[in-house]
Amino acid sequence: EQQNGTCAGCGIAIQTEDVKRPGYAPASALKRETLICQRCFRIRHYNEVAPVGMGDDDFLRILDGIGSTESLVVMVVDIFDFHGSWLRGLPRFVGNNPILLVGNKVDLLPQNINLNRVRNWMQHEAKERGLRPADVVLVSAQKGLHIDELLSRIGQLRKGRDVYIVGVTNVGKSTLINRILHDYGSNEMEITTSPFPGTTLDKIEIPLEGGRSIYDTPGIINRDQIGHMITPQDLRKITPTSRINPKVYQLNDGQSLFLGGLARIDFVRGPRQPLVVYIKNDLYIHRTKLENADEVFQKHHGELLAPPTGREAAEQLPAFIKHSFKIRPSDTTDLVISGLGWVSLTGKEEAHVVVHAPKGVSVGMRKGLI
Ligand code: GDP
Repeated sequence: EQQNGTCAGCGIAIQTEDVKRPGYAPASALKRETLICQRCFRIRHYNEVAPVGMGDDDFLRILDGIGSTESLVVMVVDIFDFHGSWLRGLPRFVGNNPILLVGNKVDLLPQNINLNRVRNWMQHEAKERGLRPADVVLVSAQKGLHIDELLSRIGQLRKGRDVYIVGVTNVGKSTLINRILHDYGSNEMEITTSPFPGTTLDKIEIPLEGGRSIYDTPGIINRDQIGHMITPQDLRKITPTSRINPKVYQLNDGQSLFLGGLARIDFVRGPRQPLVVYIKNDLYIHRTKLENADEVFQKHHGELLAPPTGREAAEQLPAFIKHSFKIRPSDTTDLVISGLGWVSLTGKEEAHVVVHAPKGVSVGMRKGLI
């Protein structure tokens, strides 16, 4: 039953001030006979989920609520920004519920990548963060790749329980939900939203057979995402939109590579070898001598070395932090710069590489994916 000033779809209190906050409806909607928030309106009429922003406290309440239910938790991450897209605090909240980890945007990976290695790396990183996923599935929400596999894994793991989909903003959670709605939602399926118990926040409900549902929870912002350090325009310049074509640089020791103005790789010591760069295809890469790199950076950051675009944007960026790596002679090793991409080396002798990246951007080493 609809109360005054609340949405007939999800029960949330209606507000007309902030488009991005839950419960928004345009002032004109207040005149309608049935009051409905814009989010529910879009779901009803376009079968489309729009993201809503929310505060940290609201979000913690949602996670807390999940822990007290019997459910399968599906956590979505962006495989290009694993650390930046990690939803912190989940281990504390999920209780004994199983977790299915979903790596989205698999369409961007180069053709010859070993997907098993990607999955193993994700399992390993999750464990380091206190989470033991029951399984890892790689999908492309945008291209509709491996969605069947995802749904069949969900079917096996949920064992009759509800399913909660969680993730920080920008991992592609809305795209994934919309993909599921479009590909698997029957026309007569009623998509409803309902208030989360104990909160005023809405969640999207996709009914499953057996009276259970998939629930979409709102994404929370993770400040460590590179996207929060640069402008939306610059984010578009570094976010790959098509499959990455690796670029090979033969490096001698004492040489550096700038990846736009967002990272610098110093090949400090080691035998001459190919360094393979996996970043957005048209992002500018600048090679220089290590001994000149500081000066080149001072002079050209925000201009030749962009993004960030413009001197002002460059000054806004958090200061660069150095990450030092000893690379053992072995199979290929990847140095991953979260949100930007990675570089890989395959040396016959030990090499020393230093990666500079803005503070807050995670830089890590993994066994090569190729
Ligand atoms: P949300 O904030 O988690 O709901 O993320 P969105 O669904 O809004 O997606 C964030 C960005 O990632 C958008 O620019 C999407 O187009 C893009 N995106 C989502 N899924 C994929 C995918 O499978 N592959 C690629 N390449 N991009 C994707």
